[in-house]
Amino acid sequence: MHTIHCHFCGGIVRDKATIQYRPPRSSAQVALPQMGTCTCTPPIVYEDSPLDDPPADDEPVEPVERVEHVERIEHVEHVERHRHDPTAHPSDPSDPWKGAV
Ligand SMILES: [Zn+2]
Repeated sequence: MHTIHCHFCGGIVRDKATIQYRPPRSSAQVALPQMGTCTCTPPIVYEDSPLDDPPADDEPVEPVERVEHVERIEHVEHVERHRHDPTAHPSDPSDPWKGAV
């Protein structure tokens, strides 16, 4: 089985369950592995924990679909148009021959 060295002291971690995983970073000072046993409490390993789920920082954000709620209300207006055309006067019955030669 793969031997895990503590990244803090470089010693061999006996109990993997006690390892405190930390996200790897360039600034982390990782001790050179040595044959001794780690005495840290807890042992520090700069690795992504295989036990836990990776942080959801880089998780792609689901595209939010814009559901446009267009409600089509058909306004069926029942407008009864009584066409009372005022210009449509019947010809003047008093003078039917006017202009007619
Ligand atoms: Zn250690």
